Amino acid sequence: MEKKSALVTGASRGIGRGIALELAKAGYQIAINYASNEVAAEEALALVIEAGGSGILVKGDISSESDRAALLAQTIEAFGRIDLLVNNAGVAPKVRGDLLDCPEESFDRLYDINLKGPFFLTQAVAKQMLKQGVDEAGFRGRIVNITSISVYTSSINRGDYCMVKAGLAMMTKLFADRLADDGINVYEIRPGVIATDMTSGVTEKYDKMIFEDGLTPIRRWGRPDDIGKAVAAIGGDFFPFSTGEVINVDGGFHLHRL
Ligand code: NAP
Repeated sequence: MEKKSALVTGASRGIGRGIALELAKAGYQIAINYASNEVAAEEALALVIEAGGSGILVKGDISSESDRAALLAQTIEAFGRIDLLVNNAGVAPKVRGDLLDCPEESFDRLYDINLKGPFFLTQAVAKQMLKQGVDEAGFRGRIVNITSISVYTSSINRGDYCMVKAGLAMMTKLFADRLADDGINVYEIRPGVIATDMTSGVTEKYDKMIFEDGLTPIRRWGRPDDIGKAVAAIGGDFFPFSTGEVINVDGGFHLHRL
């Protein structure tokens, strides 16, 4: 069987790195995209190779049109096709602050990186997938969007983040609907509180909420490999009759409890 190939955005650190590692274990070759942290990206690639996989590093800002085009071109040049696109790269607001004071600049930054970039990258990758023949499993490709519990949870100190993640959830439904007839399934993975650089500034706050207050039925922080395993299940075609599906990887955060 030919090796499948994946393009994972923001795979140098955190959740993206966890996804790349689990895909490597599942036999994927991976284009590891990152924005600027070359040291972290090199480390991620070394870990992918150690896990038995292979890959390339592709530097590029997903909010830039020319970087997205280069990202796609370099991945195709290396692998010939893209079997799996994972829209993982994302940023939190630089400063958490009252909704009433949310600056336009922060809104624009989050919109560009967390929603507009993934939308136009997906558009371009979908067109590439449409040119590809079907694989052994009958698919031209698969697409996964990494959203957040912020899709439906109000955090009034980072409203911009919540709004763009809600947009990304809608984007999953739109592409799922558009591409189902073409042999491309689209999924949303909704992580809860995951231990990465993004959450390192609020460790104490979430430690208390998780371990003392019981924020999540499963009383632990999520790990990047928790998300990676869910993506590997999609990459391994364990959900062939599901599209537009939401997979919560959140320790049960989404349950309403009494
Ligand atoms: P992280 O540790 O801060 O890592 C972010 C990754 O995205 C890095 O690889 C970074 O590259 C890359 N990146 C940032 N801006 C980029 C851009 N403009 N273009 C391309 N790559 C870019 O974040 P994380 O916690 O792993 O989060 C990953 C995704 O999961 C995000 O979409 C986030 O919203 C979502 N999420 C996280 C949590 C959580 O609790 N951590 C919960 C729910 C959802 P460099 O290394 O080059 O900077």
